[in-house]
Amino acid sequence: MNNLAALGVLGIALIVMQSDITLRSGLYADMREALAKGHFCLHYQPQVDAQGHIFGAEALLRWQHPEQGLIPPGVFITAAEETGLILPIGNWVLKEACAQLVKWSDHPHLSHLSIAVNVSTSQLRQPDFVQEVQEIVTRSGANPGQIKLELTESMLANEVDDTIQKMRALQAFGMSWSLDDFGTGYSSLNYLKHLPFEQLKIDQSFVRDLLNNESDQAIVDTLVNLGKHLKMTLIAEGVETIEQLEYLHSKGCMKYQGYFFSKPLTVQAFEQLPSPLLSPVAHSTSGLF
Ligand code: C2E
Ligand code: MG
Ligand code: MG
Ligand code: MG
Repeated sequence: MNNLAALGVLGIALIVMQSDITLRSGLYADMREALAKGHFCLHYQPQVDAQGHIFGAEALLRWQHPEQGLIPPGVFITAAEETGLILPIGNWVLKEACAQLVKWSDHPHLSHLSIAVNVSTSQLRQPDFVQEVQEIVTRSGANPGQIKLELTESMLANEVDDTIQKMRALQAFGMSWSLDDFGTGYSSLNYLKHLPFEQLKIDQSFVRDLLNNESDQAIVDTLVNLGKHLKMTLIAEGVETIEQLEYLHSKGCMKYQGYFFSKPLTVQAFEQLPSPLLSPVAHSTSGLF
């Protein structure tokens, strides 16, 4: 490449970076405004046992944009993390989930539910993360035993001692921990036995082609066995078909989350779900339900 061409490429790269920055700062201002105006909301996706009973819900963040409609977290979470806005947003999510638990607590069909809340790396790395979480939960009056915090594997690569210490502190407070997207990161299995995870979530990428892909089957078998040996509950994400469900069940994975049961729903829609979620007659091929 001659110098002129190189300059051209550099120029284009700079323009791309510039527009990215402009986009990001626009997004930052918009997210701040959304938080101030109450435009974020949580949708709830049911978590179901092998009898089809709903035992919990994952709280999933949505941005109710006045012009653009409902925006999924994939569009803005990374920017929220990079700008630090994930800290106030993450606190809002936890407050909202706690408020929901308190509302459900005197409802006979909903009071047993747990809520799973996703935690970002930058939240976990805050020196006062533990105190902040305890304060939010205590002030809300929610039962910490009904809150599951989800971490992803990539978050475990660094500062393991700090992570263990924070996880133990919140476990002692009554909360439990789930390892999200399990199998997609590079966490050392050696760490896993020292970290107080109560639950492993099998990532949806292994569930998607489960019936046709022998590698995915081998991975799922291995993850289920690992979870059992480590005395952790397994929950499969992204279950979309009865065949996937039956495969997972036959391997000993007894908890599920996925479109087969329900997409994430508004709280009003979630509260209307029947439990058990599926009629025993409709799906009785393998004795499931
Ligand atoms: P995640 O925690 O692994 O959540 C599961 C994602 O899979 C959700 O996407 C859910 O809608 C989707 N999903 C569930 N069942 C199925 C299925 O059967 N098929 C398919 N194709 N997808 C399914 P969503 O809501 O777009 O969230 C994406 C990610 O954004 C989450 O992945 C999580 O990492 C992050 N996220 C969501 N809410 C929060 C939050 O409050 N805080 C933080 N830090 N991250 C969040
Ligand atoms: Mg999650
Ligand atoms: Mg996941
Ligand atoms: Mg994920």
